[in-house]
Amino acid sequence: MADPTLVELTQALARREFVLAYQPMLEVRTGKVAGFEALVRWRHPALGMVGPERFIQRCEEGGLIAELGRWVLTEACRQRAAWRDAGIGGGPISVNVSPLELRDPAYVETVRATLRGAGLEPQLLELEITETALVASFAEVKDAISALRRQGVGVALDDFGTGYSFLRSLRSLGVSKLKIPIEFICGLGEDPDCDAILEAVLALGHRLGLNLVAEGVETADQLALLRDRGCDLAQGNFLCAAVSADAVQTWIERGGLAAVPPLSRGREPAAADGEERAERRIRVLVVDDHDLARRTIVRILAQAADIEVVGEARDGQAALDLAPTLAADVVLLDVSMPRKGGLETLRGLRERRPDLALLVLSMHPEDPYALRFLREGAHGYMLKERAADELVGALRTVHAGRRYVSQAVLDKLVGEREG
Ligand code: C2E
Ligand code: MG
Ligand code: MG
Repeated sequence: MADPTLVELTQALARREFVLAYQPMLEVRTGKVAGFEALVRWRHPALGMVGPERFIQRCEEGGLIAELGRWVLTEACRQRAAWRDAGIGGGPISVNVSPLELRDPAYVETVRATLRGAGLEPQLLELEITETALVASFAEVKDAISALRRQGVGVALDDFGTGYSFLRSLRSLGVSKLKIPIEFICGLGEDPDCDAILEAVLALGHRLGLNLVAEGVETADQLALLRDRGCDLAQGNFLCAAVSADAVQTWIERGGLAAVPPLSRGREPAAADGEERAERRIRVLVVDDHDLARRTIVRILAQAADIEVVGEARDGQAALDLAPTLAADVVLLDVSMPRKGGLETLRGLRERRPDLALLVLSMHPEDPYALRFLREGAHGYMLKERAADELVGALRTVHAGRRYVSQAVLDKLVGEREG
């Protein structure tokens, strides 16, 4: 897709094609939800979901960002108020703000009016400002931040460390949080520079009395490291991806991460009729377009007493249609299928059913998608040809909330990294 034109974006706004995804932020020590970041997407009628990196800049250049930003702010405040009314605690909603919006002298009043319109307490709103934005227009933005803080609205400095930090002004600016970007988090434990940067930023932030948020946490190891180093909050696909408001609410109502170990998000509680959870069989949806392969898988699974196949789908779209109402625990997902491919299906499933464990079945260890699938939230990735030997064990592993990756795939991934 070529980048969208201003005309297309203007029409998209008029047609209400923008939607918000939400990603919880969690307290690293306790797993308690401490906030939600609102992230805008364009639900394109032909292309599906289009991410903000494809259109925010164009909106800024074309003078559309104020209108888009107003819509995002209004919708996010409405959603937070609705969640509050539904009894959902867990801190403020965070809205990303373009520097251009902040430089508008009327912006502070816009925020005040939006909060009033939504009936939302200012303490339940936080604005995220990228550090580079500050650099471009420090004086104007500084006054706006002070005025917002006086209202009670939180302000976080996004992507901290990627611009030229105004270290001297950090305290006087009155920001309440620093967000450490994914580029410093993804190398933790592997790249000594990332470890050093994290330690320095944590020391600096804590010295100044600020809360630190690690963004883009994708593995248990990263989370453990952040906990050891005393990072306050974390956000990332390992904890919960950015998903629809409904999916976030379901995730929270089923206990988020506080009640269950990572990856086994939101398993249903044991049935009221006394059925013991441990005794219930693992319910599996098998998704594969290849009839013979699917039947073979079902036959293998039928031999395990603790596993029950509750559904079969012949392509990704059928799986997405089935998922919302299906009582299942694990989805076995083929990587290449007609109608909706594996990756697209995976995303759709995570959006609709963040409680499901997802085990991906692939043909080759060389599959270039292994990392993509794992990054996008697959809990396991294994090879079809080994299915007879591995399948039942892999299924039990992801159902227990642990990650499973075939050794051959791991070898290949490590080889690629070294090569
Ligand atoms: P950001 O504010 O730093 O948002 C974090 C980005 O990291 C989001 O991407 C989020 O989906 C992604 N992310 C979260 N966890 C993980 C993970 O574990 N792994 C990986 N690889 N990525 C993860 P997204 O939604 O594409 O947003 C990109 C940027 O677009 C945001 O960066 C923000 O600067 C901007 N943006 C998003 N929504 C808005 C908005 O409403 N207004 C404005 N002005 N900018 C926005
Ligand atoms: Mg942000
Ligand atoms: Mg960020």
